[in-house]
Amino acid sequence: MDLTLQNISPDVKAELDRNIFMTTLEQIKAWARSNSLWPMTFGLACCAIEMMGTGSSHYDLDRFGSIFRTSPRQSDVMIVSGTVTKKMAPVLKRLYEQMPEPKWVIAMGSCATAGGPYIKSYAVVKGVDQIVPVDVYIPGCPPNPAALIYGINKLQGKIRSEAKTGKKVM
Ligand code: SF4
Repeated sequence: MDLTLQNISPDVKAELDRNIFMTTLEQIKAWARSNSLWPMTFGLACCAIEMMGTGSSHYDLDRFGSIFRTSPRQSDVMIVSGTVTKKMAPVLKRLYEQMPEPKWVIAMGSCATAGGPYIKSYAVVKGVDQIVPVDVYIPGCPPNPAALIYGINKLQGKIRSEAKTGKKVM
């Protein structure tokens, strides 16, 4: 019996298209990871209030599978929300190193992305990407919870896209 696709009736072919899909293990892992990002609470200044608001009932970050953790060992994404001082920098790096792979970083707000209003201060790091690699930058002073959710959605897309193409998205 010839079972090549050309000899299958359109109805059967449509049914197959609806019920069978091909993928890779890497893509399934990325799909699962992107839908269960567990951010580490890393509030450093005023932006942290917006980050906390994002986890509250009104914005309900849980619906994306994101649940804040208090331990770096249980987290896979660090949301740096606030002003990174030079005194805090080594602590931030150490906590990042304690997070298991794979892990990602979101720089939330103009302080975390580039120093913000304190750009001329001798005590402030001019962007957390000088200490750890950053995947998503969210501008604003402060960005509101909707902006943080948008940034998390972008990170989810990046994780899935990297698994699909095998290339790092910068
Ligand atoms: S970006 Fe603005 S709101 Fe956020 S921590 Fe800096 S000064 Fe505060």
